[in-house]
Amino acid sequence: MSSPFDFALPHVAKLHAYTPGLQPNEPGWVKLNTNECPYPPSPKVAEALRVEIGAAGESLRLYPNPTGAALRRVVAEHHGLRAENVCVGNGSDDILNLLVRAFCTQTVPLGFTMPSYSLYPVLVEIQDGRSEVIEFDRTMKLPLARIAASKARAFFLTSPNAPTGVGFSCAEIEEALKVFKGLLVVDEAYALFAAEDAVPLLARYPNLVVVRTLSKAYALAGIRIGYALGHAEVIDVLDRVRDSYNTSRLSQVAAIAAIGDRAYYDDVVAKIKTTRDRYVKAWAAQGWFTYPSQANFIFTEPRNGKGEAGPAVAKAAYDYLYAHKVLVRYFSSHALTASFLRISVGTDDEMLVLNQSLEVWRKIA
Ligand code: PMP
Repeated sequence: MSSPFDFALPHVAKLHAYTPGLQPNEPGWVKLNTNECPYPPSPKVAEALRVEIGAAGESLRLYPNPTGAALRRVVAEHHGLRAENVCVGNGSDDILNLLVRAFCTQTVPLGFTMPSYSLYPVLVEIQDGRSEVIEFDRTMKLPLARIAASKARAFFLTSPNAPTGVGFSCAEIEEALKVFKGLLVVDEAYALFAAEDAVPLLARYPNLVVVRTLSKAYALAGIRIGYALGHAEVIDVLDRVRDSYNTSRLSQVAAIAAIGDRAYYDDVVAKIKTTRDRYVKAWAAQGWFTYPSQANFIFTEPRNGKGEAGPAVAKAAYDYLYAHKVLVRYFSSHALTASFLRISVGTDDEMLVLNQSLEVWRKIA
């Protein structure tokens, strides 16, 4: 042993850690790279946090409720379910991690489609597990026959998909539930921006798990709350493998306040969808292949002034935006994503700055 690194288990030593989108500290960026909400959370969240902290933070002496019991009840009621159908986590990343921990090993693969959320294979690698990857083609049609043939015990389906924004209908998800023999986990991080979601199917399909987050539509990425909805027996499995205090006092009260303010968030979501639809239409109209988005981001294939598209063009557009302090996301590692940019929907002002920068880039590129 020559260094402490050599003590790490072999699968950890060769692990490729997840690369999150850049989180710049200095001001002045138009930040459209990590699908955060461009609007603040409900004012009821800050109010609830102030009450929880009290004058001198005295409540922070005490551990939080270990199961987040009050939050589970609020989430359950919100979805017309029972508390036994809900597990809460430190962001939905925590929930996804619990699912991998409970349902994936070297001999029992975890299934997922690609391109999708690039954390999935990393969670599998951490566990020294095995991935079973089903590739989308550019049509982004759900590969049902291949899902049916999957040997995985759990399969992650991102709907709406990230990074394309393509949403799968309730009927398509039901088809997948009928043909897949394991647990179908529908990662619905962006469901509030979509036309349909899979929650109504929970009553009929015990092999369905729906995963949600408060990081996107609820504007609470900094609070780190996500949750799983599923059959009580699946929730029991997740509770066996989670950390005993996996959500904080402050996170729990913030989430309860947010979920309680439906009117506020209906308005936020409506604004984001209006902005999104305008830019999807505009970029498609100027000849950029743009997926119809059901999420709070847009996946578009930029063309330079000569009408060319491709990985080098997309990278050049990304670099130009970056140089002008506009942050978007560029995924170079997959053939289906390498000629696209993923642009989180910002405020109208932010989108104007982005679009003006893209127009200048087009003229000079
Ligand atoms: N699922 C998908 C598809 C995502 O894009 C993200 C955020 N990048 C997450 C889950 C995780 O969200 P969080 O951990 O903030 O709840």
